[in-house]
Parts: sequence; C-alpha cells; structure tokens
Amino acid sequence: MLNREDWLPLARKLDWEFSYVEEREVFPEIISGHPWLPHNAWKDWEESFKTSYREYVENQHEKDMAVYAVRDAVGRLENVQRLATPWINGLKVHAAALALAEFTAAIGNLRGTRFGRDSAWRAMASFGALDEIRHTQIPLLLMHELVRWDSQFDWTHKFYHTNNWLAIAARHFFDELTLGQNAIEFQIATNIVLETGFTNLQFVGLASLAHGAGDYMFEKMVTSIQTDEARHAQIGHPVLALVLRHDPEYAQYLIDKWFWRNWHLFSFLTGVTMDYLAGEQRSASFKEFMEEWIVDQFFRTLDEFGLKRPWYWDIFQDELEIYHHMMYASAYTYRSTFWFDVVVPSPDDRRWLRDKYPKHWNEIDAVWECIANHWKRSGVGAEKEMSVHSSALPAFCDMCQFPLCGGTPRKNTASVFELNGANYIFCSEPCRWIFQREPERYAAHKDLVKRILAGEAPADFTALRTEYFRLTPDTWGKDVYGGEYEWLSKEPGSS
Ligand code: MN
Ligand code: MN
Repeated sequence: MLNREDWLPLARKLDWEFSYVEEREVFPEIISGHPWLPHNAWKDWEESFKTSYREYVENQHEKDMAVYAVRDAVGRLENVQRLATPWINGLKVHAAALALAEFTAAIGNLRGTRFGRDSAWRAMASFGALDEIRHTQIPLLLMHELVRWDSQFDWTHKFYHTNNWLAIAARHFFDELTLGQNAIEFQIATNIVLETGFTNLQFVGLASLAHGAGDYMFEKMVTSIQTDEARHAQIGHPVLALVLRHDPEYAQYLIDKWFWRNWHLFSFLTGVTMDYLAGEQRSASFKEFMEEWIVDQFFRTLDEFGLKRPWYWDIFQDELEIYHHMMYASAYTYRSTFWFDVVVPSPDDRRWLRDKYPKHWNEIDAVWECIANHWKRSGVGAEKEMSVHSSALPAFCDMCQFPLCGGTPRKNTASVFELNGANYIFCSEPCRWIFQREPERYAAHKDLVKRILAGEAPADFTALRTEYFRLTPDTWGKDVYGGEYEWLSKEPGSS
C-alpha cells in the first residue's frame, strides 16, 4: 500500500487528453466561466489544504459529534426560551435565511465539481458540496425544536418559497451567486468574497455575540460551519490568481461587484442582528466588526493578490456609517411585512449607537424619537400596532431588491436609469453600475412594485401581506413588547 504522501498527488491529478471531443465542448465557457483557457493553463492548480475522502469523513464525523454533544447539553427548548426576546428574533432571521442558502451553495460547488478546470479543483469542490449539505442540515436540526413552540419559527421554513420582499431580495442574490453561476465566477464570488470576507462577520463576530447572549447552541452551530468554510474557501484563491493573470480587469470587476452585493445582504442579515437584536452584552458594533474583518483582513488578502480597493470605496465608507440603520428603521416601520419581531432601541441603546456611529446618528435618532412619540400618542398594546406602522408601499432597488433606503433621512441616494424605454431605479451608484455592466442579466427581473403594476401581485397592502407574502396575524412581525417600554412611560409627555 502506498503512503498518503505518495498516492495523494496521484489521486489529485486525474485529468486526461480528450480524443473524440474538443476540450471546449467538455468545458463550455458559458458554464465553466471566463477566461476560457486550455487545461494546460490550469494544470498546476493547487489547493493549500489537501485532504482525502477518508480524512474528510473522519474529520466531519468528529465535528458532527461535537455539535450533537452541545445540542444535548444546551439545545432544548427551555434553553432557548431563557434567551432575551430580541436575540430570539435574530435567530428567526437566521432560521429563515441560512438553511436553503447553504443548500444553493451545495449546487454551486457541484458546478465546480463538474465544470472546474482541473481535477484537483473538482475534487475539492465535491468536498465543498458535502460541506454545504451539512450546513443545510445543521440549522434545520438544531432549530427544529422551536417550530412547535413559535409559529414564526415554523414560518421560517416557508421563507424562500414565498414572495416575501426579503425572500425576493435573498433569492435575487443566491440565484445569481450560486444557482445560476458558472464555475469561475462562483468560486471567486462565493469562496473569496462571501467566505473569505463576509462569513467571518457571521461566524466569528456573530458567534461571539451569541456567546455573550448565552446562546451556546448558535455559537457552536456557526463555529462548526466555519471550520468547513475556512477549508473550502481556499478553492477560490488559486482560481482568482489565474484569472487575475489572464484578465485582471475582469477579476477586479468580479470582486467589486460581489463585494457590493454581499455588503447589502449582510447589512440586513448581520448588521441589523448585531446592532439591534443582540442585546446589551454586545461587545462591538457591526461597523467595528466590518472594520476588523472586512476593511483590515479581507482587503489585506486582496492587496496580496494585487487587487485594488473597489472604485466606490468612499461610498462604501459612507454607507458603513448609516446604511443598516436606515434598513432597520425602515424594517421597524414595515414590521408586519416579515416574520420576526423587532424592538425600539432604548435610550441606553441609542447612547451606545451614537457613540459608535457619531457621523449620522442625530438624523437616525430623530426617526426613533418620532416612532417613540407615535407609541406615546396611540397608547401601547398589540391592538395599537398598526397605528405605529407605515401602510404606503415602499419602493425597491432594481439591483439589491432592498428598499430604497440609501443615503440619510435627509438625502436619499436613489437614481433612475432608462434602458429600452423602461425605467430602473437604484438605491446607490454601485447598484446602478452593476446593472449597467450586465443589463442582459438583470433587466428582465421584476421587483415587487413592477409585479404590482403588472397585476401579478395585489396592490392592497393587507392582501399583499397575506396572499403574496404568505403571512398571517400570528406570524407577521410586531413590536417585541407591543410598544410597552418602561423607559417610554418615564419620558416626559407620556400619559
Ligand atoms: Mn456553508
Ligand atoms: Mn461555503
């Protein structure tokens, strides 16, 4: 029997010459990706972490045993019921968003398994696909207990199968990133931008907040997932290096495009959870996590590749101060359009946020002041929910599909672009720029407002919530406390 060191190099490299088909037919550019190069250019493709199937299975088995042990120790319903209510609602965000997104990453990896340009790449992508199936199953398993307890957790299983506006935004992102993607763009966008960059926010930053919140199961779940991500994310590095050598402008474009797309998605998913739902034990702000993991670490990695910072760096810096605050304020005023409950930040929270986000907090604070005054005037309680709620339909960005809440409460950054007689509206310059680079990819998609105008979705707000978003009075989002805040009744002017 050969030693591992002797047979692994043989087993990794199993490419052969084609005799009765052309290489271009085996690996068509449309699905293998650009730039199309003969295999000779890819033959030295090398992953930095090498593993065999046998080692893979042994390692994964151990990791699964560790997850089961934590579930047995702290994963019962009563453990979750003891957590702070805002944090439990952050769990509902993740229960909806995580599992099927991970599943789409399995499909993306399977594209690499078939259409990756070197056998070592294809082998690593097949482990990546197995990883992503594991990441689909772990959240489904660990949060299954919660389904019978709370109908909003039950609803999270419907999420991607509805036309809820957040589901439209999430599908628009994952359909492009993972499901409908060629192998090269998938490995760069997913492995480099999402997994080397943004999942650190979730898996390191949010894990530490989960620990602070006493949610050891969530902490274990995401840290266990992260050990897989850190391994298969390395697939993207040799892919990026080769694309950069042959078409540096395209490599830079992929990074700039996907950084922006990820930024908007994670501003909601992670930004809102960290700064508004994680509770008072939070250790750092979303912006501080972004600065440590993205601005420092991720861009240092890109720098080592010889890539530049995105052209929209100044716009990104501006949004870092305010975008997720605008998202959360919008979300609060439209809370009955999604499946989790939200909270008005307390005076202590607002002092903390002012300290962390001094640049624009005054303007955001005025929004919360206004919402608090609404509660004071209407009186508190579940039956008063809709008097502190918007009913006009929000408009959405034709790229990220999030509400048009770019800019500040005083100065919105939305802009319109006309193409073939149709108007498209974008929340920000980078969203418009991505659309203009690949209009054939995006122009046919209808945002929610276009669906309403086309008669495909109900124009009536109530019917939209129930028929199109599939929500019910039981499942739609509310104020966690029904507006009943101790600090609110103590403030002057309250009845
Ligand atoms: Mn994953
Ligand atoms: Mn992954």
